[in-house]
Amino acid sequence: MFADRAKIFIRSGKGGDGHCSFRRELYVPNGGPDGGDGGKGGDLIFEIDEGLNTLVDFRHKRKYAASDGEEGGKRRCHGKDGKDLVLKVPEGTVLKESRTGKVIADMSGDNRRQIVLKGGRGGLGNQHFATSTMQVPKYAQPGQPAMELEVNLELKVIADVGLIGFPNVGKSTLLSRVTNADPKIANYHFTTLNPNLGVVDLEGAKGFVMADIPGLIEGASEGVGLGHEFLRHIERTKMMIHVVDAAGTEGRDPVDDIYKINAELTAYNPEIAKRPQVIAANKTDLIYSEDEDPVDRLRAEFEPKGMKVFPISGVSGQGISELLYYVSGQLQNMDVKPVVFEQEYFPEDELIYEDLPYTVEKEGELYVVEGPKIEKMLGYTNLDSEKGFAFFQKFLKDSGILKDLEQAGIQEGETVKMYGLQFDYYK
Ligand code: GDP
Ligand code: MG
Repeated sequence: MFADRAKIFIRSGKGGDGHCSFRRELYVPNGGPDGGDGGKGGDLIFEIDEGLNTLVDFRHKRKYAASDGEEGGKRRCHGKDGKDLVLKVPEGTVLKESRTGKVIADMSGDNRRQIVLKGGRGGLGNQHFATSTMQVPKYAQPGQPAMELEVNLELKVIADVGLIGFPNVGKSTLLSRVTNADPKIANYHFTTLNPNLGVVDLEGAKGFVMADIPGLIEGASEGVGLGHEFLRHIERTKMMIHVVDAAGTEGRDPVDDIYKINAELTAYNPEIAKRPQVIAANKTDLIYSEDEDPVDRLRAEFEPKGMKVFPISGVSGQGISELLYYVSGQLQNMDVKPVVFEQEYFPEDELIYEDLPYTVEKEGELYVVEGPKIEKMLGYTNLDSEKGFAFFQKFLKDSGILKDLEQAGIQEGETVKMYGLQFDYYK
């Protein structure tokens, strides 16, 4: 029903294997090695597409893979690179690793395009492995493996202001009224989608984007009703207009309503509940009571707490302009940095924590570290690059391998061997 969430499986391309072959020419009995390099695997890339506003496409297809690099060939033939795969998403899409829920990418603001999974490097052909002592290298490097991940996509709309409040208090009415004044709403193709977005244009003041966050009810933070589906959309808003039925037409108390909705917000995310709120005391055209004016009660209760109260009527339009100019002014005074989610999950780093076996043993003078975990790391890591070397050091430390070496009794200056790689240990 709601296409603002999807779970998909993504994979980059594997690097093509290097080739192992020897020159064969007429009258040349023992030709040198001429195996070509494998091609690079394709990258898996995410890109913002302004024309999109839903994740519905990702509901129909679940698996996405860039193509593999081709194997190198005879006669130094370089394997073809795999094709990148570019997945287009609406602005505001956040990618999370599905097991941990950690953010991999926030496709918003300046981040229009991100390589999420890098394709594997192609392996070197045996032509590279000839040395003065080894003229007939029968070894070619395998391509770097592909990376794969299961990710959750979540669309979190980009709005300055969110409308919150119980159902039927008049949120949609307000949104349609203030954005119909100048139907720029067409810029956002959200009309058939929940939540709705609209641009508020103001004469002589800065306009802003407003989002209707429907379905917020008691229990929403625990997943009751549809509230939870929508709560994620307020995560980026800088402030909220808390709409309340001041006339209490459904028999509830407006002061109570505000507390209840705010309790839901706090339960969902205390940080969001602390963001500035302004109260729109709506449906004032229906207040007939001769006793205490509910607007005065709201003011007495919430203005000392920093929430200004504006009596409005979404139907007659009364009071709305004061509310909007106030909101615009508040936004101007704020540090209006957009809410962006920082990357917390780095697919390459996962190797460090992956539960693969390895052994640490002393053989003569050498400390030998071997096993699938080491093989895989070496396959991923380009030690010649600064970044690769930094990763290698982090890998040794964070995976616990250094600790194991120390436990095995390694001393400063002693040598560690990992397959073809040797290095000296210093603290
Ligand atoms: P939402 O669920 O919060 O989006 O509420 P709606 O905007 O759909 O409004 C619910 C009902 O209240 C509709 O029948 C509206 O016409 C009505 N309504 C909204 N604002 C006002 C108002 O200021 N005065 C009156 N009399 N009715 C209103
Ligand atoms: Mg509504």
